[in-house]
Amino acid sequence: MRDSTEVLRLQGLQVHYPIQGGVFDRLLGRQSGGVRAVDGINLTISRGEIVAVVGESGSGKTTLGRVVTKLVQPTGGRLLFEGRDMTSAQGLSALRPYRHRVQMIFQDAYQALNPRHTVFDVVAEPLRSLRLVENSNQLTERVSEAMAAAGLNPPAEFFARFPHELSGGQRQRVVIAGALAVKPELIVADEPVSMLDVSIRAQILQVLTELRARQKLALLFITHDLPVAWLIADRIAVMYLGRLVEIGTADEITLNPRHPYTIALRDATPKVRPDVHRRELPALKGEVPSAAHIPKGCRFHPRCPLAFDRCRQEEPPAVEVGPKHIVTCWLASEGSSDSLEFANSR
Ligand code: SF4
Repeated sequence: MRDSTEVLRLQGLQVHYPIQGGVFDRLLGRQSGGVRAVDGINLTISRGEIVAVVGESGSGKTTLGRVVTKLVQPTGGRLLFEGRDMTSAQGLSALRPYRHRVQMIFQDAYQALNPRHTVFDVVAEPLRSLRLVENSNQLTERVSEAMAAAGLNPPAEFFARFPHELSGGQRQRVVIAGALAVKPELIVADEPVSMLDVSIRAQILQVLTELRARQKLALLFITHDLPVAWLIADRIAVMYLGRLVEIGTADEITLNPRHPYTIALRDATPKVRPDVHRRELPALKGEVPSAAHIPKGCRFHPRCPLAFDRCRQEEPPAVEVGPKHIVTCWLASEGSSDSLEFANSR
């Protein structure tokens, strides 16, 4: 299903926004701080691979998706697509080939669709704007192909319908068809099923996994829902306050998480596998703080039930705790194979 051809590589990717202070600061051109929305992300995605980025609201995962699709310009690090450095590519003509290869599926299909456009026009729009077809026959063929792949069958029955005439699941399929029409290499899907009923969710996830298998699409799947990530992804990257705190295979992250934040996310969801024994953490305190006020030391320490002195002083390094399993936590770097046991022994 997957091959080792790398599609996307993010190296120390950053998106920092300056905060302007009062009138004097503005007159003197001084900044009074910054928001570190995305702060040093290292991540690769291969052809045919699904990587899920999981985190709460405010973790920076949506900003990360928008940087990858070049809707937001990075302020640091590098973004390589099929080996080409796209970090500073900007403007319509420089980005036209990139937009052809990298597409985004948004969370709210109703918002993403123009209510005055028919389904045909919605799916045809990227083909027209990127000038990927030469005549109307080719256009109809490409639109039908994309709609069939997204599960809108038979496609011609939906051509003349408007978004308000569709169900929630059908609207999301139209959005997926619009992304597929240009035959991309990578799709960034930002919470594509979170607004759908559970039964429809399963169908949309099925469409995405079939597309990966058939077209060897790479998928960056953004979600707050760990069980959904486990269902669809090959690897899961857990994001907290602009950083990836743990990354590994979907099974390893879900069944054997090592970072206290991942353990807390897992504890907050129903059991994925009732047969797997859990050692549960006390509940997390509060919410993700603002990215304008990143604490010193481990950025998770104000909410971490296992925090100890070192966590408040020094930021932990990323350490490999198993094959393809990386954790950013002092408990992991100090050699503990079990975060809870180690914490209790201190
Ligand atoms: Fe918790 Fe410390 Fe690990 Fe951060 S480094 S997650 S505060 S135990």
